[in-house]
Amino acid sequence: LQGLPGGGLNIGFEAVDRHATTALRDRTALRFVSRSLPAIDLSFVELTRQTNRFANVLRGLGVGQGDRLFVLAGRIPELYVAVLGALKNGTVVTPMFSAFGPEPIATRINLGAGQVLVTTDALYKRKVRSMREQMPTLRHVLLVAEDGGITHEPGTLDLATLMHDASDEFSTVATQPDDPALLHFTSGTTGTPKGALHVHGAVVTHFATGRYALDLHPEDRFWCTADPGWVTGTSYGIIAPLLHGVTSLIYREEFDAERWYSLLEQERISVWYTAPTAIRMLMKSGLALARRHSYPALRFVASVGEPLNPEAVWWGKEALGLPIHDNWWQTETGGIMIANTPAFDIKPGSMGRPLPGIEAFIVEHLEAEGEPPRVRIIDAPDVEGELALKAGWPSMFRGYLNNEARYRKCFDGDLYLTGDLARVDADGYFWFVGRADDVIKSAGHLIGPFEVESVLMEHPAVAEAGVIGKPDPVVGEVVKAFVSLKDGHAPDEVLRMDILAHARKRLGAAVAPKEIAFLPVLPRTRSGKIMRRLLKARELGLPEGDTSTLEGGA
Ligand code: AMP
Repeated sequence: LQGLPGGGLNIGFEAVDRHATTALRDRTALRFVSRSLPAIDLSFVELTRQTNRFANVLRGLGVGQGDRLFVLAGRIPELYVAVLGALKNGTVVTPMFSAFGPEPIATRINLGAGQVLVTTDALYKRKVRSMREQMPTLRHVLLVAEDGGITHEPGTLDLATLMHDASDEFSTVATQPDDPALLHFTSGTTGTPKGALHVHGAVVTHFATGRYALDLHPEDRFWCTADPGWVTGTSYGIIAPLLHGVTSLIYREEFDAERWYSLLEQERISVWYTAPTAIRMLMKSGLALARRHSYPALRFVASVGEPLNPEAVWWGKEALGLPIHDNWWQTETGGIMIANTPAFDIKPGSMGRPLPGIEAFIVEHLEAEGEPPRVRIIDAPDVEGELALKAGWPSMFRGYLNNEARYRKCFDGDLYLTGDLARVDADGYFWFVGRADDVIKSAGHLIGPFEVESVLMEHPAVAEAGVIGKPDPVVGEVVKAFVSLKDGHAPDEVLRMDILAHARKRLGAAVAPKEIAFLPVLPRTRSGKIMRRLLKARELGLPEGDTSTLEGGA
């Protein structure tokens, strides 16, 4: 890392501009591959020019440092150019999943007071246009024409025209390490999603973890399979490989076992970063398929997002010739914290050990729920407790947007409490146990039950809704909803399909429930909260635990 020539630190400069004046300038930075379109290679110098143009487009629109830009798109070049160009302009960026429905999109833009949205004409028409009136902060919508042409959609601007007219010279804004850079939304148990705010100084973690956890070196060809709508797809799908001058593959379509194996082979991927759900899907497709290809360039494979079963670690060895290195982190940490690195033996089933500079602990809570957290470090191996990190690493989130109280609740003194349960063994390896809350992890993505319940409640027949994660062998958990109906509605198949369709339309397929069950009433606490834990225990046939707060009759 270098810092800006006149002082300051900017992720965009470190990832892109810095390389444009070195021997790396003509190396491919980003390589976009898709089934139906020719591959697009952007060199570091070309990426510098395009991100300069985009930064100038923002400046021309009066969008400056600290303003907020959202991106809603598939993995198209314009997404990457917009994210990096915005960072260079000091504008705070939020990439969103293109699979989100209108509701999660509008919720996030409103929470983040987004002024600019970059999206495609098709996504705009399908998901944004009808909600536009309900997003009062949104001043500019920049559209990418899906067919590469020009868009003519009232109330929007054509991005290609703006880019064409903008200069490709730009002097990156002198942001400071503590200036906001990225806003990533993550789901909690209650309330709306939380916007975790990250700063330009996070680039130090992106760089260090790219080296220590993923072993990136300039000659590598790297593939991170995560979408930038998830923090992994930004920290490691965009930033970390560019920092290391590495060529990154971006596959534009969704999972396909045969295609993924071909890409690993044909694109000569040397370092691969993927996720347990994908690995389980590959395992399902059988070893024979994996062995139809060979992977001589591949030298390191890592996984993140959910627990990686020991069988999956060994499957890697059989199918790809390499064991899979699990690592752990979360939206709030901004980068990898705990990892099975190339430097140490893997313990299959373990998340690994804290990276250099990271101190991790298992803690127990001393206070009752609802009080400010007070914890004590458990100074013994193999005891289950909450995973905590010593605060202060460079990519630590600096707040939940507009929710200082919620942020403060994550800390006890200089310990950050992760919300995950784990234990540590005598060799210092951490083992994941579960989450301390009701948040659902489906195909690697966190889904807040409240966001789903709120949309179900909009349906005219629904009186109340409770949403849980139901264990699933491939995606970890699927979203299951329990609903009770208003008087005069019968719990039949037609209604079930209608509620499912409503949820899918509003939330998008990635977030909507896969299953709906009708109940006459939902179990509630005396204070009126739906007891999701009890719904889950009943669903799984597990002991119901403490039901002393259960409202009578449910
Ligand atoms: P997100 O903020 O969406 O990236 O989700 C972070 C959460 O994913 C963590 O708090 C964990 O619950 C889970 N997670 C991430 N990595 C791992 C892992 N290696 N093993 C088990 N759970 C993980």
